[in-house]
Amino acid sequence: MTKQRQSADFQKKYPNSKKDNKENSLSIAPQESMPERDCPLCPRLASLRHDLQKEHPDWFNAPVPPFGDDDPWLAIVGLAPGMKGANRTGRPFTGDFAGILLYETLLKYGLATGHYQADINDGLKLKGTVVLNSVRCLPPQNKPTTQEMVTCRPFFLGAMAHYPHLKVILALGHIAHQTILRAFGITLSSMPFKHGAAYQLSPEIQLVDSYHCSRYNQNTRRLTEDMFQDVFAKIIECRGNDDQK
Ligand code: SF4
Repeated sequence: MTKQRQSADFQKKYPNSKKDNKENSLSIAPQESMPERDCPLCPRLASLRHDLQKEHPDWFNAPVPPFGDDDPWLAIVGLAPGMKGANRTGRPFTGDFAGILLYETLLKYGLATGHYQADINDGLKLKGTVVLNSVRCLPPQNKPTTQEMVTCRPFFLGAMAHYPHLKVILALGHIAHQTILRAFGITLSSMPFKHGAAYQLSPEIQLVDSYHCSRYNQNTRRLTEDMFQDVFAKIIECRGNDDQK
């Protein structure tokens, strides 16, 4: 797809995405979806990456690309790579605790085939689904700053621009929810984060919220396996029955 065509399609699908607003200091436009491997745009994250490249030269240690179907109807959005998960393996949610529940649930709902073995060579394939993070690089303490989220947003938008048949976006956690709303130019107060809630983001796309499937949320039972499965049942319902792949 040419950049001009990609940009035109993107603006048609996300008509509010160019609006500047008080929460968004970056003029949003679709960019190439993949940052360079040694992206320097967030100095704090680049510095951590350089330290880890020396400490663990066998780890991925780079911006983590989306994983899944090239033409998805479902996008699952997390916050950022975990140190020993995606930052180590190079695939979102792969190798950390959260990935077990996420990928096992995708397998259960027919949104993936194969077996999840916490290894990028496990042969797992996603069906109609892509998994990506709103921030591509590992942040210290798993907490990107607001500026880092803003800086990485064009790459998030660039990825979304490649998915013309998206129907549902699943936000894993409050911050992913906010990133998605800002990307769509929607005020945060109009669609508050609520586990299990569904919102109409655009005529074609619905947003579904879930608590993040982190170890903490699972250990405290803020998010149980049953609750997470209910979210996926809602996602399937949101997709509707008229255009199954
Ligand atoms: S988080 Fe995004 S913008 Fe920041 S350094 Fe990584 S790839 Fe670049």
